[in-house]
Amino acid sequence: MIVQLKRSASQKDYDTIVKYLEDRGLSVKDVRSDHVIVFGVIGDISGTDPRDLYAFEAVENVTRVSTPFKRASRAFHPEDTIIHVTPNVAIGNTLFTVIAGPCSIESEKQLDASAKTVKEAGGHILRGGAFKPRTSPYSFQGLGVEGLKLLRKTADKYGLAAVSEIPSADLVEVFEEYVDIIQVGARNMQNFHLLKALSTASKPIMLKRGLSATIEEWLMAAEYIMAGGNQNVILCERGIRTFEKYTRNTLDISAVLAVQELSHLPVIVDPSHAAGRWNMIEKLSHASLAVGASGLMVEIHPDPANALSDGAQSLKFDTFASLMDTITALSSSFGKRLS
Ligand code: PEP
Ligand code: MN
Repeated sequence: MIVQLKRSASQKDYDTIVKYLEDRGLSVKDVRSDHVIVFGVIGDISGTDPRDLYAFEAVENVTRVSTPFKRASRAFHPEDTIIHVTPNVAIGNTLFTVIAGPCSIESEKQLDASAKTVKEAGGHILRGGAFKPRTSPYSFQGLGVEGLKLLRKTADKYGLAAVSEIPSADLVEVFEEYVDIIQVGARNMQNFHLLKALSTASKPIMLKRGLSATIEEWLMAAEYIMAGGNQNVILCERGIRTFEKYTRNTLDISAVLAVQELSHLPVIVDPSHAAGRWNMIEKLSHASLAVGASGLMVEIHPDPANALSDGAQSLKFDTFASLMDTITALSSSFGKRLS
């Protein structure tokens, strides 16, 4: 970081700030001129918040020049990370991995039909919510652990991997038992207690972008998981809250490119929660492929009009199958392959 002191700063102010930084293992490279004191701070600043320096009255301006995330940063790990989910399923680099399934697990019949469709259409991972983070407490809340058991059983029946959203830190062991990827939902992206609990989990974590999270906040959330030892983080762009009301959220497609520049972690796109409308999913999926995403997460349902959650954004089975056909046909043009 670069620190500029006020013109009124004294030598004593300077000495105090330099000592503060040196006490934190940092060193200072002085570039002072006759009129202004500016210095560069060298060393690992990951444990120091540059804004803390504004506590010193003599500080005029502090500019960060490196990213606050290290483990997630491409600067320290230039090659793309490939996450091996199961012996047959991986995510990252030139792979384009498709996750699909219902928003909520409603019944064995509904999940079985969905899984059959995912498998036959060429998808890789079955999704299904068992603990649903609903805006209203009166909406369907999910089948809980019974739902996770159904998910495991059904995924195994069709040779698919399984992913589901964890609501809280006390359930990590249960999720490790039943799923191959543990999903952190948008509403929990900055639940640091949960992120720390997942940092020692034995399964990869799919970290959805928070409703109003910046890219840096999102990557810092990934850093939390990685700092505790779990390097297997998959990022998921799921749309952010903007002033626009026509769609449920605004798919931040450029964030997918930004994340690929900033991080080696795979990033996938969830067009379903971004658009909130089933008729936009196919084109947004093509856009995701075009910007180099590592895959998709798409909601499907046997009868969207009667779904217990997110029916408006759920694809019918035939629409999902035709989406898979177009994705497969387009993938090689964008340097990706589906398996
Ligand atoms: C989901 O994927 O089921 C979900 C609730 O998504 P989000 O956390 O992105 O809203
Ligand atoms: Mn949903």
